[in-house]
Amino acid sequence: MRVQVDPQAGFCWGVIRTIQIAEENLQQGQPVYVLGQIIHNPREIERLERLGLRTITHEQLPEVVRQGARVLIRAHGEPPSTYRQAWQLGIELIDATCPIVAKLQERVRKFYLQGYQIVIFGKAEHPEMIGVRGVCNGECLIVSSIDDALQRVDLARPTVLFSQTTMDKEAFSKLAEALRQRIRQLVVEEPERVSGKFHAKDTICGQVSGREQHLRAFAAAHDVVIFVAGRASSNGRVLSEVCRSVNPRTYFIESIEELQESWFEGVGSVGITGATSTPQWYMQEVARYIRQRFGQSA
Ligand code: SF4
Repeated sequence: MRVQVDPQAGFCWGVIRTIQIAEENLQQGQPVYVLGQIIHNPREIERLERLGLRTITHEQLPEVVRQGARVLIRAHGEPPSTYRQAWQLGIELIDATCPIVAKLQERVRKFYLQGYQIVIFGKAEHPEMIGVRGVCNGECLIVSSIDDALQRVDLARPTVLFSQTTMDKEAFSKLAEALRQRIRQLVVEEPERVSGKFHAKDTICGQVSGREQHLRAFAAAHDVVIFVAGRASSNGRVLSEVCRSVNPRTYFIESIEELQESWFEGVGSVGITGATSTPQWYMQEVARYIRQRFGQSA
């Protein structure tokens, strides 16, 4: 049985940057805490915790003051209230917000100050959306589908449409088109016309959407695909569905223990890939395990 780890899978540059910032600060020997899980991947969190990183909640911020630790803001970003609270408590922050998320926050703030109705295609409880909600005083609608948007959006108001950075590009385009037909003053981040067709410019991260085409080819080239990601990873869900759309024998796992022998019976090739928060080293471990444990099942 041939087992291949997707050479293009692994961390996006935003996650690489966040982890580098964490490691550099941990090397200085002082305690470093992170507000919420640094990335949606339990294996990488365990590795960083072995280096001394501690994960805390917002409620635990006052306890950090007593220990003199610095607090890292992860790639998803935080609302302004977190910066205010840290400043009031005298906590030193290490801001590792992904620049793409910071840019989204900045654009939402700009349109909010101009009085637009802000509509965001995203998941309301995702940490990135909590940060973005904060920059517009919570005055935005986070919608999950066209139906959801049509029920809640005020079609008579000047409106701007954004997207969480990790959403599906095609679904966003359909939503933009649906709103465009009904709202006279709609901004979809400078809509473009390419070859006579409407294309919505979006705030979806190219590190996610750019992988889709490659993933389709990768998933189609293997009998079975093992998609490795944390269950809380938003782009993990989006990208695993991309694989499943071309290869129904795509299995989503968070850890090696979830692998099942029946998936590999009679299989000639297995492809292993993952989300933008899945470390290459863990996908290699999964590959080694499959070869040793199930290599004879084929
Ligand atoms: S997926 Fe994109 S927006 Fe999210 S952390 Fe990575 S580079 Fe930044």
